Amino acid sequence: MPELPDVEGYRQTLLPVIGARVVRVEVLDAGVLRGVSAEVFCREVTGEILASPWRHGKWLMVPLRSPGRRHRRTDPSLVFHFGMTGGMVVTRGEPPPPGGAGVGMAGKTYDRIVFTVSGGVVHYRDMRKLQGVRLLGGDRDVAALLGDLGPDAGSISSGDFAAQLQGRRGQLKPALMGQRVVAGLGNLLVDEILWRARLHPSRQIAGLTGVERGRLYRAMRTVVGQSIKRGRVPDLPSWLTGHRAVEGAPCPRCGTPLQRGRIGGRTTIWCPRDQPRDGSAAEATKVSGP
Ligand SMILES: [Zn+2]
Repeated sequence: MPELPDVEGYRQTLLPVIGARVVRVEVLDAGVLRGVSAEVFCREVTGEILASPWRHGKWLMVPLRSPGRRHRRTDPSLVFHFGMTGGMVVTRGEPPPPGGAGVGMAGKTYDRIVFTVSGGVVHYRDMRKLQGVRLLGGDRDVAALLGDLGPDAGSISSGDFAAQLQGRRGQLKPALMGQRVVAGLGNLLVDEILWRARLHPSRQIAGLTGVERGRLYRAMRTVVGQSIKRGRVPDLPSWLTGHRAVEGAPCPRCGTPLQRGRIGGRTTIWCPRDQPRDGSAAEATKVSGP
């Protein structure tokens, strides 16, 4: 599932085609378009120049501009969301690689929109089409779309994070996944962060101590930062994510069999020793870890 690090990776794959002119747009499946017809989408985007892509949480924005001038506030932007199965690949025109992002079972490649630009081809892929692609008329519309999101989890300051948690109710896992406290975290990142911070995923936000909030912030910045470097949440042996696939696998920190359950509607993995439900033991044990 694409989370913040994956989408940041897609943003970086677009960097070589900044300034490229869109020569042709092929909508192979209009089911990925949101709020715009294929006809209008192709007409409006063809001939435009791709300006610098930017990201907020799991959303990727590609501002458009007319040839010979900068992007203006009233110029449209392409807005991509990758849902559960989306991806983006940029080629120089050769057939895209058979594996990788957005590729479904049996190696089928779910290209939905193909942008031929000067010097490259941008493939937007998505098997399940849960989210999709928008063409928004101006920067104000982009701001409105992103308006409910919290600050980006990759760049939020500790002070802003504390302010975002202030007065919130509910359990940690669903709150961190909900995009309003911080934007960009998905199932893998949240489990990894809570394991690092030694906080049980069903702990109440309101019950966290100041020390625990600090630990949560530092774990988030570390996990997100290291994941961005790799373009995904890495399944390293020293990471919780490296042990998700095996039921009852030992905790890479203390060896206790990892526990698995549904919290906030999602499969959740945690260490029952390092992440006790009441929080007290985590303060007491102070296990040395990664
Ligand atoms: Zn453990």
